[in-house]
Amino acid sequence: MARGKQPAKAHRAPKVRRAVVTYTVADFESAFWPDEQPVDNAVVMTMGALHAGHAALIRAARKQVGPEGRVAVTVFVNPLQFGAGEDLERYPRSLDEDVQLAEEAGADVVFAPTADEVYPNGEPQVRLAAGPMGERFEGATRPGHFDGVLTVVAKLLHITDPDFAFFGEKDAQQLAIVQRMTADLDFDVEIVGVPTIREEDGLALSSRNRYLSEEDRAHALALSKALFAGRDAAAQGPKAVREAAAAVLDTAEGVTLDYLALIDPHDFVEAADDFQGEAVLAVAATVGSTRLIDNVRLICR
Ligand code: AMP
Repeated sequence: MARGKQPAKAHRAPKVRRAVVTYTVADFESAFWPDEQPVDNAVVMTMGALHAGHAALIRAARKQVGPEGRVAVTVFVNPLQFGAGEDLERYPRSLDEDVQLAEEAGADVVFAPTADEVYPNGEPQVRLAAGPMGERFEGATRPGHFDGVLTVVAKLLHITDPDFAFFGEKDAQQLAIVQRMTADLDFDVEIVGVPTIREEDGLALSSRNRYLSEEDRAHALALSKALFAGRDAAAQGPKAVREAAAAVLDTAEGVTLDYLALIDPHDFVEAADDFQGEAVLAVAATVGSTRLIDNVRLICR
């Protein structure tokens, strides 16, 4: 090829890692553990319909284990964590796109099992119990939800046997309970939290956002707006935080509030009025027919 005619930037095309897709535990194990090399490895557990929030977790996992380490992404809509009348049946499923996103973010293996593969003996008769931490806030509205989450997280930790598992701060209560499970039950894994990824206008990314109509989406912005208003008041203490956030939600249209709470992140109880230090301001609300959750971390003084 004559000088000057070379395709511009061709040699700079980003190297895309090819991810292996597996559906059975046996195939997953041979793909994730192809040899006995002692490399670090990490898992990111998802329910699919992946977006930039999941990609941030996968990238963080890749960064943690380095280019030679191994990263697995699990895609499994766990029936155990859905209650009657929730969106198990209509939960979005898009495995081809998920694999592409996972690959581009740095995954080596995607594990997308069926429910029969995960629960070969049918509904598990023995489950983990999240205890009191799982009965408040999300757990109060979704009884049994965290028991279902912990049961599948424990199973997937056993199957993937990772050094690190990455979870989003978006699901702050889930992150806290998973951290407690691994500490209380001596799981040999480090649980790493990753900050929430948002749209430019503040809306936290969620697979469930695709249920929102344009009007719902505009209404849903009240959640992040309320959280940011609360965070801006953090220097004045917990009462001011709650009041500032509530003021936004009180005037919000199209939002049915479930809870707004300022939470001590260690044991996930409501923070007292004289609480000082890092707290989680969390909100859950239904917009249209979609239940959304969001939270921010802040420092109360
Ligand atoms: P899901 O597929 O909704 O079960 O989420 C899988 C993981 O991705 C969980 O650890 C979530 O907390 C995390 N996640 C979901 N949305 C976001 C987001 N917007 N930013 C960061 N992490 C997220």
